[in-house]
Amino acid sequence: MTTYITGYRDPFWSDPRVSDTFGRPIQRLKPRPPFVRTWQASSLRGEGFGSYAEKRVRVGDYGRVQRTSDLLTKIPTVKGFVGKKGWVPCCRPTAKLHTGAVDDFRNMAAAIKKDLGIDLKVTTGWRPHRWRDRAQYEAYLKKRFGSVKKGKKYLAFNSPHETGLAFDIGVGGLWPTSKTIAKQRKTKLHKWLVKNAWRFGWRPYKAEPWHWEHPVTYNVWANGPGAGPGGALVGVGLASLAAWLLLLRKG
Ligand SMILES: [Zn+2]
Repeated sequence: MTTYITGYRDPFWSDPRVSDTFGRPIQRLKPRPPFVRTWQASSLRGEGFGSYAEKRVRVGDYGRVQRTSDLLTKIPTVKGFVGKKGWVPCCRPTAKLHTGAVDDFRNMAAAIKKDLGIDLKVTTGWRPHRWRDRAQYEAYLKKRFGSVKKGKKYLAFNSPHETGLAFDIGVGGLWPTSKTIAKQRKTKLHKWLVKNAWRFGWRPYKAEPWHWEHPVTYNVWANGPGAGPGGALVGVGLASLAAWLLLLRKG
């Protein structure tokens, strides 16, 4: 892992690579359990593991990844981008995903290629935060939707994309547009994802067939997959090893 700042740094409390709405480092009061990815842990808790079940990645639970963070890795994108009036074909923008989810993106892409012959590409992965503050957000909702209450149904203040753990698909008939949702659900790719995405840790957002998310533990999110299983688990492992050695000696 790269060192970002010198001196003391507790990743559970503040990290210069992630910040809140106002650019301050996240101050986390409730650290997540520092071991195994949540989607693996969820199999033990029976939270829809092995099925097409939502497990949303929220900015409120993680935080936002900053643009310059080395926790973002490039992933294959389609040519063009989603503009205000829909798809704008042009260049090849850079899409990035949190490194804690990239292996599972690549593994799933390989499986899709093998099963369907489709190269998995996205329109966007990580996105920067869109609003300067709540006031600007609410002013926009009033202008566009008539009221804040109504607007909130269509446009959230925080997007899961800001965590780096979500992407929108742009191939196989999947596309980030609500106009063709029914048609998108019938594509081979979507049917494959419904059946298989969970095997790679990818979870749906059922309202948008093109949008997929990958929950990880807070430790992996804040420090990257190299953060490993976390101190607690290693500690338990060492303790049991010591007990076992002690038993051997006694025996
Ligand atoms: Zn999305």
